[in-house]
Amino acid sequence: MRRERVYLGLGTNSGNKQDNLQRAIEALSLALGLPAACSSFMESEPWGFESKNSFLNCVVAFDTHLSPIELLNTTEEIERRLGRTKKSIGGQYSDRTIDIDILFYGNKLIKSERLTVPHPLLHLRNFVLQPLHEIAPQLTHPTMGRTISELLALLPE
Ligand code: AMP
Repeated sequence: MRRERVYLGLGTNSGNKQDNLQRAIEALSLALGLPAACSSFMESEPWGFESKNSFLNCVVAFDTHLSPIELLNTTEEIERRLGRTKKSIGGQYSDRTIDIDILFYGNKLIKSERLTVPHPLLHLRNFVLQPLHEIAPQLTHPTMGRTISELLALLPE
């Protein structure tokens, strides 16, 4: 069966951030196989909301047999497993400490209720483009027709 190269964006802004990213990469590797590439970890300021906690981000590439929805189920399961650190009164877990975004799934364009790929905000986010640039500078965005290198250069300071 054909495998697709997928790029996942990981972010965390609570608890032991280094540890959260490490544990997410380990859990992803158990589910998907060893990463094809992994960026360094990069600190960034909260984007789109106010928080005093900065983020730690990275981008990881895998080659996978999973379909896009199977991949989303896997990443969401890992988010739930790693992110829920305490039980609330109603027995519900809370405190999501890891966010996993599917940035690219090969060259596929996906627009469904649960999934939009390429991730619609990736070209606006330095904390995605910079780590992505480390591992895939020549990767071309399938709808924008620009490489990651070009998209990064287009970002305002
Ligand atoms: P967030 O809490 O910001 O990580 O958003 C998670 C929600 O975004 C989930 O309900 C997903 O179904 C949806 N979603 C849509 N496109 C994507 C994508 N490319 N990667 C991850 N989640 C996505």
